[in-house]
Amino acid sequence: MPSIIGHTIASIALGNVYSNRKEDLRFWLLAAYCSLIPDGDVILFYFDVPYGHMFGHRGFSHSILFAIIIGFMVTLLFFRDVPHMSPRWWRYAVFFSVVTASHGLLDALTYGGYGVGFFVPFSGQRYFFPWRPIEVAPIGGLTKFFGPEGWPVIQSELLWIGIPTAFVIAVMRIMQHRKNRDVASESSGRTV
Ligand SMILES: [Zn+2]
Repeated sequence: MPSIIGHTIASIALGNVYSNRKEDLRFWLLAAYCSLIPDGDVILFYFDVPYGHMFGHRGFSHSILFAIIIGFMVTLLFFRDVPHMSPRWWRYAVFFSVVTASHGLLDALTYGGYGVGFFVPFSGQRYFFPWRPIEVAPIGGLTKFFGPEGWPVIQSELLWIGIPTAFVIAVMRIMQHRKNRDVASESSGRTV
């Protein structure tokens, strides 16, 4: 997997693309949570579930179906103030599903371990993308991540996740700024 930092950065990029309104802290924390939750499956190693099993690491928890379930659960549980099944409610459900799915997509861009079971439980096939530029993060916590083993990971994540994220945020901000300016000039034109 990319590190927790890589996944979280990707969730920030997606949040910026998704939302043109000012979202609260709840939104951003849940986005980060969704981007990380698939790796909760490492707990199954302690229960002797083999890596290659459908429910092993990078199996069901990294699938598209799991992402959809999490997206809807997060919206149901944490956005009760948003009218149920309203367009905004659906947008949140889709957004949190996409953020959860982004985890598996990024994992498939690394070359470590087994591939990602996107279609579990319908198929146990594991997938990688043909192009895999992201270094796999060392398992063993943040101490290892910030040690010599982690440095190539940080470099590859900065290059392949950090820079595209900064670019996306900059583009979104410029577009928002222009939109606000156009709205302001339109309304001032009307009052003249
Ligand atoms: Zn993962």
